[in-house]
Amino acid sequence: MDRLIPLSIPNFEGNERNYVDDAVGQGWVSTGGAYITKLEENLAEYLKAPRVAACQSGTAALHLALVESGVQPGDLVIVPTLTFIAAVNPVRYQFASPVFMDCDDSLCMDPVKLRRFCETECRMQEGGLIHTASQKAVKAVVVVHVFGNLADMEAIMDIAQEFRLKVIEDATEALGTYYTQGRYAGKYAGTIGDFGAYSFNGNKIITTGGGGAVTAKESKAAEHMQYLSTQAKDDPHYYVHNEIGYNYRMTNLQAALGVAQLEELETFIARKNKNYDLYAELLSSFVSGSLLPFREGTRSNKWFYALQLKGVDNAEQLRGIILQLQERKIQTRPIWGLIHEQLPYREEIAFEIERAATYSRCVLNLPCSTQITEDEIAYVVEQVSEICKQ
Ligand SMILES: *Cc1c(COP(=O)(O)O)cnc(C)c1O
Repeated sequence: MDRLIPLSIPNFEGNERNYVDDAVGQGWVSTGGAYITKLEENLAEYLKAPRVAACQSGTAALHLALVESGVQPGDLVIVPTLTFIAAVNPVRYQFASPVFMDCDDSLCMDPVKLRRFCETECRMQEGGLIHTASQKAVKAVVVVHVFGNLADMEAIMDIAQEFRLKVIEDATEALGTYYTQGRYAGKYAGTIGDFGAYSFNGNKIITTGGGGAVTAKESKAAEHMQYLSTQAKDDPHYYVHNEIGYNYRMTNLQAALGVAQLEELETFIARKNKNYDLYAELLSSFVSGSLLPFREGTRSNKWFYALQLKGVDNAEQLRGIILQLQERKIQTRPIWGLIHEQLPYREEIAFEIERAATYSRCVLNLPCSTQITEDEIAYVVEQVSEICKQ
């Protein structure tokens, strides 16, 4: 291979240049402009959601969802430990504390342990869940749909209802993923819980450079998050502010890119699925590990491909493989380190973390850009097979 095969790069094959040029031409480049509203409307229609608020990042979307959930200083919020740290940091922005939860074999939150934590470590009091040892209120759970998979939402929603937890879906990696079977058939990731957050960062399935969106089950809640994202301004002319707001609104330039990208989303998903199938076929005889599947009964966007490696059980071993692949012009990355082991979070509650620890040491993400060719996929599989045999 003479050029690097990147892990995940954006694809601008559609109307991106036209729309961005149009936005610049009109002079609408900041937090006002028709493309922002258009992106919000198109996204709401695509997701079959009542309303969507476009914002600056997935992180901002998650923060707005926590604010809207009523998470206060001193509260607890249940989060996964095997995820990107942006799913957890907004809990601290609210001066609340995370409770770290294990994953199941889908890499998403384990509902069995979630229930066990609520039943054995907490009790219901005055209609809310209280963590017995700390006496703190457990207000919400952040569920991440890892790599475009779906968490076990039927089980999680039952638990959340029983223990009165708000459910914030981190669907930043799962735009376009939906259930095809079961209670939530036809429901998109991010539209099942109380809130859903999306990201349009550079490596996500569609991008606005940086950007995100947040939706809510209740239209009014989404409207309120939109208000909070624009400095909570209460009068069209005068500077009247009745709440603490944020400068989280998406810009029209970002939204112009986003409107074009959304037009291509289904094409991107089809390619991601086709490429995943090819990887799966070529890796079927791979003896040193296996390609992780996506949940049955879903149509996944197959955003990221995860290869679980046999006999790899520490970070340095995985780094060695990544470096060897880099020499052969293949860009890969390890799955995340556990968040409860990161310096700012070592004192927090971590509940029975087992599977997440295992997966975090042996999962490698393979190149998955929509532009990757069949030859490149074959080359990646060949090189990974050769390196892992040694
Ligand atoms: C990308 C990502 C985010 C944050 O999105 P940004 O737009 O980068 O702020 C949050 N959670 C997860 C799981 C992500 O992958």
